[in-house]
Amino acid sequence: MPKLPIPMSSPDLTDTERQAVANVLETPILSMGQYVKDFEQAFCDRTGAKHAIAVNSGTAALHLCVRAAGIGDGDLVITTPFSFVASSNVMLFENATPVFVDIDPRTGNIDPELVKDAVGNIGRYLPRKGANRDAKIKAILPVDVFGQPADMDPIKEIARENDLVVIEDSCEALGAEYKGQPAGMLGDFGVFAFYPNKQITTGEGGLIITDHEENADYMRALRNQGRAPGDTWLTHTHLGYNYRLDEMSAALGVVQMSRLDELLDKREQVAGWYEARLSEIQDVEIQFIEKFTTRMSWFVYVVRFDATIDRDALAQKLIARGVPVRPYFAPIHLQPYMVSKFGYQPGDFPITEDLGNRGLALPFSGVMSEALVEQVSQTIAEALLEK
Ligand SMILES: *Cc1c(COP(=O)(O)O)cnc(C)c1O
Repeated sequence: MPKLPIPMSSPDLTDTERQAVANVLETPILSMGQYVKDFEQAFCDRTGAKHAIAVNSGTAALHLCVRAAGIGDGDLVITTPFSFVASSNVMLFENATPVFVDIDPRTGNIDPELVKDAVGNIGRYLPRKGANRDAKIKAILPVDVFGQPADMDPIKEIARENDLVVIEDSCEALGAEYKGQPAGMLGDFGVFAFYPNKQITTGEGGLIITDHEENADYMRALRNQGRAPGDTWLTHTHLGYNYRLDEMSAALGVVQMSRLDELLDKREQVAGWYEARLSEIQDVEIQFIEKFTTRMSWFVYVVRFDATIDRDALAQKLIARGVPVRPYFAPIHLQPYMVSKFGYQPGDFPITEDLGNRGLALPFSGVMSEALVEQVSQTIAEALLEK
């Protein structure tokens, strides 16, 4: 029986999205119009945040948070090496230093005990080179990995006691809830992203939510070439960027946001099919979900294989059989530019490296059929039997 190629991920789009984008193209306003405002309002309505600032990528959103938090030359930010590189790169953009602590092996999220230890004993956590040893800790940047919120209560407590800013990277967790509260609302700033594999998409896009009015105004200015309220087109109060989201993207996002619960429910159903099928297979570990995760927002479906399995050889077999899979995440501290700047070595963050070595992201989206989930699972079971 011929099999269609399986996509790694797929956006979930309907004619309503297509019509919304087409409607924008009937108008002359392709940027800085009402759709961006409506998209932002949808986030305030959904999360209860006072302010939402839409930008053209999740990375841009994180960068504006770094600027608004006043993180600059030499400053230290405690964060996780088990993430997508953008969550650390934004510190490097400002010549600040990400200080890594290892993760909870069950969830892959930053370990709050280690955050606490790092705040008290920062010298022991600094990289071998490239960091200023007298620098000040400015912020904590936890990441809600794979759609599950980090354990934010202890992190907020540490931040409060030490006067640190918390930037919550919720780029993988739109719609998730921690103890009943929306992901992204648990720190001073929350960040979302809308690349086509995320829970909702705008093509490219990102957004910040915050309750701080002054910071919100500042970030709006920075995304618009540094133009503060009252500035003319060629007056620039601040050093800014062009991080604006266009109206076509925002119109798409408005429709996607109106469908958020539907989109999340579909993804949860697909995750449930995987869970039922994969939990029968030996040597496959499925995602652990904390009690405090009162709503999981499935972003990717990552499984871990037993340490006795050659993960890379298995991945090659799966790919050869038409099942695309990807190691997820590749530890940030071992990326070539991180190694050369900070002198990191294998073994520095053993839990991150272990999960990085044993995990594979499987094909996953809300439009995936049960039959495809069965096909992927069956292929994994067969490939494992051949070891
Ligand atoms: C997707 C993602 C981002 C932002 O990515 P962009 O491609 O810039 O939109 C940031 N952090 C994490 C953890 C992500 O998964």
